[in-house]
Amino acid sequence: MSCQGAISNVTALAADIGGTKIRVSLIRGEQELDTRLLPTEPGIGPEGWLQPIRQAAQDWAGRFECLGVAVSGQIDGKMWRSVNPEVLPVGGAFPLVSALSEICDHVIARNDAQAAAWAEHIYGAGKRLDLVFLTISTGLGGGIVCNGKLLRGHRGLAGRFGQISPALNGDTGFGEPFEKFATGRWMAHEAAKKGLDISAKEIFENMVAGDAWSRQIIVTSARRVANLCRDIQYTLDPEMIVIGGGIGLATGYIDDVQNALLSIDPSQAMTIRASAFKDRAGIVGIAALAAQSHLQRGGKDEKI
Ligand code: ADP
Repeated sequence: MSCQGAISNVTALAADIGGTKIRVSLIRGEQELDTRLLPTEPGIGPEGWLQPIRQAAQDWAGRFECLGVAVSGQIDGKMWRSVNPEVLPVGGAFPLVSALSEICDHVIARNDAQAAAWAEHIYGAGKRLDLVFLTISTGLGGGIVCNGKLLRGHRGLAGRFGQISPALNGDTGFGEPFEKFATGRWMAHEAAKKGLDISAKEIFENMVAGDAWSRQIIVTSARRVANLCRDIQYTLDPEMIVIGGGIGLATGYIDDVQNALLSIDPSQAMTIRASAFKDRAGIVGIAALAAQSHLQRGGKDEKI
């Protein structure tokens, strides 16, 4: 899209509801003018998670022109569902768009990794490029920008690379999802098998301190993600793969992924870069999507 200059002049109320934290911002272009960060309380459910957005809409009344919400899970039309309830238990189909319609007539809602892909495409590491965004964190999510468009998919599931099966599972059904084999949760499970109650972050710290087992775990994860990148290359052939997330952005991790891809013929080599926005990618992307939609509607969002 060529409206980057124009969207930089639109102020959005934007929110990113994740498994561990909720971020609500007043955001103009890629600049957050005001931000509130809260922990996500899984037990209070979607109505509870929307409360900080309603509060911000009151406190910042008159200061924003449109509303965008990025969420962990599936946005199918105007409904929100969990894909992995362990991350965020939405509890069935929740009418996200209509639940926020008292703030704004026209609410833009997207999956958080899809929104992050858009941020990297509009302003970030892959500016104006066709790209795939991968977030390697507690789980694994993703988003696809193809031919300059954000792919949502028919049911909002495009780019959920964490759910694909790494191996065929005979005739017995679907294999285990990829995110069970490379993410922060996988690393912590591997440690638990050894009787260690430690997080992925601590495994990285142990590796830096020289622990060989920790190094092996991290390299295994990076090799698996490299394989995923290769599959993505053969499926979508993007101009760039952008990696984010607490694991993906940990020191040395992208180098390990790239090292695992060195044997690929240069004519098929892929460009892999770190996310420019890190944990802000989702909110920057959803604000850009809301601003674009607002401009396409001629700036006619009411009740703001
Ligand atoms: P979320 O999964 O809620 O989106 P993150 O993207 O921060 O959050 O990913 C969390 C995962 O990344 C956890 O497994 C955590 O242990 C790990 N992690 C967080 N920070 C670091 C770090 N600095 N180095 C290595 N791993 C990290």
